[in-house]
Amino acid sequence: MKNFQVAIIGGGVIGSAIARELSMFKLDVAVFEMGSDVASGASKANSGVVHSGINSPTSSLKARFCVEGNKMFQSLANELDFPLQWVGKYIIAKNEEEVRDLEHLKKVGMNNNVPGLEIKNRSEVKKKEPNVSCFKALWIPTAGITLPYQFTIALAENAAENNVVFFLETKITDLKKQKNLFLIKTNKGDFQAGVVVNAAGLNCREVVSMMEEPDFQVYPCRGEYLVLDKNYSSLINSMIYPVPVKGSGVLGVHITPTIEGNILLGPSAEFIGDPYDKRTTNETMNTLFLEARGIIPSLPDKAVINAYSGIRCKLASPESGGWADYRIEESKNMPGFINLLGIESPGLTAAPAIAKEIIKMISHLIELNKKNSFKSRRHRRKRFSEMSAEEQSNLIKKDEKWGRIVCRCEHVTEAEVIEALSNPLEARVLSSVKYRCRAGMGRCQGGFCTQHIVRIMEEHFNMDVADMRLKSPNSNLFYGKTRGNQSD
Ligand SMILES: Cc1cc2nc3c(=O)[nH]c(=O)nc-3n(C[C@H](O)[C@H](O)[C@H](O)COP(=O)(O)OP(=O)(O)OC[C@H]3O[C@@H](n4cnc5c(N)ncnc54)[C@H](O)[C@@H]3O)c2cc1C
Repeated sequence: MKNFQVAIIGGGVIGSAIARELSMFKLDVAVFEMGSDVASGASKANSGVVHSGINSPTSSLKARFCVEGNKMFQSLANELDFPLQWVGKYIIAKNEEEVRDLEHLKKVGMNNNVPGLEIKNRSEVKKKEPNVSCFKALWIPTAGITLPYQFTIALAENAAENNVVFFLETKITDLKKQKNLFLIKTNKGDFQAGVVVNAAGLNCREVVSMMEEPDFQVYPCRGEYLVLDKNYSSLINSMIYPVPVKGSGVLGVHITPTIEGNILLGPSAEFIGDPYDKRTTNETMNTLFLEARGIIPSLPDKAVINAYSGIRCKLASPESGGWADYRIEESKNMPGFINLLGIESPGLTAAPAIAKEIIKMISHLIELNKKNSFKSRRHRRKRFSEMSAEEQSNLIKKDEKWGRIVCRCEHVTEAEVIEALSNPLEARVLSSVKYRCRAGMGRCQGGFCTQHIVRIMEEHFNMDVADMRLKSPNSNLFYGKTRGNQSD
């Protein structure tokens, strides 16, 4: 039975950030992820905002880790080469009453040590955001945007390059403590570990209940988004948020630019019974659009090209107002069992700081020695579409696969798809390609490129069509062939 010093349950942004931090030390570390790739849960489906830290009460863990995490992002982006832009954020007030809310947010932000907060009047906002309708707005310069799945992939791939072992499509089904070791049962066999870190997101309660009686509930809360076509990217320059509705526990429907040039409208907030119910609904889509039009009156309805949803892991019930702080703690009954509970927004921002905190906790359990061989840098190759004509033609001369466009919308080449499928995590589903090189993310949403990616998977990776999947272990693209092979 394979034995690890640390086993992390969940390859979301939290599990991946912890894995990367642990990979700096001489340790055997494993990440168990039940999805077919990292960032299979909330870490893929969120607003991608690097928050500043003005929305959580001073002295809460959410405020502390958000502010600390925010400060760590730039150097992480330099090391790991994931995209990050400090576009800043306006929280807009529609009337005098809402200006009082802005003043309160500013005060909380200043108490949390968030720099540069300023209340701007309408004409100042209009200069930067001519399409936005508002009375006044709070300007937050330290808020940024990133690509959440690329950030998670960057953390995980760097951890894998530094010898953390990732077991994808491997679900933890049971946990037991036997003397000083945890016995970990999975759908792919049994493992042992000295320390177990529960970073299972929405499933955190299920994992705790494998060891002891949980003293908390999880209230899944769905957030739906609309995605606008890149042609409308000039509608805004920064993030535009409303004043949060008091007692809602969420930030409200906002308008967020993305690194790729699409704009996001959302998210909604709807408490749901089934944590896997990621549907998008006509009703919510209409509401999102109307709320966004309240902020940008000129928003054209034909701009919407897609919709998706992410599920928040809330520890507070809707009746109690939906706000609870993170719980990051070692079990009192089971030493070595570390739980991260209720890591909802701003979890993406907080991830690097939370990871440091977990290292501190682990250092009380295992002796941690830095390894000299740690490779802190990960290099992302420039996309074909970002290269100069000269760079493109030089590459095509060396390898004609650079000259074959597989995704017309995003101008992704066959060579880039092969590179994406050769990732160090060995994630080989269609969405692993999409999230690494954008094939399938454009206006036609995979209508053109899917057949080519399937061919590449067959030709270059020897994959059988019956094993090809869209994004998760059960999302087969094909049931088999309608006709036999030519040789049959
Ligand atoms: C709508 C929405 C908008 C948000 N916007 C922002 C934002 O703009 N900025 C921000 O900072 N934060 C934001 N967040 C919060 C952020 O996305 C989360 O806090 C963060 O992604 C949580 O990461 P995680 O790793 O804890 O969870 P997840 O990403 O859900 O990862 C948990 C992983 O554990 C795996 N898993 C579960 N059970 C098992 C098991 N038994 N065995 C193996 N694997 C298992 C799952 O497959 C999953 O991949 C938002 C969240 C939502 C839902």
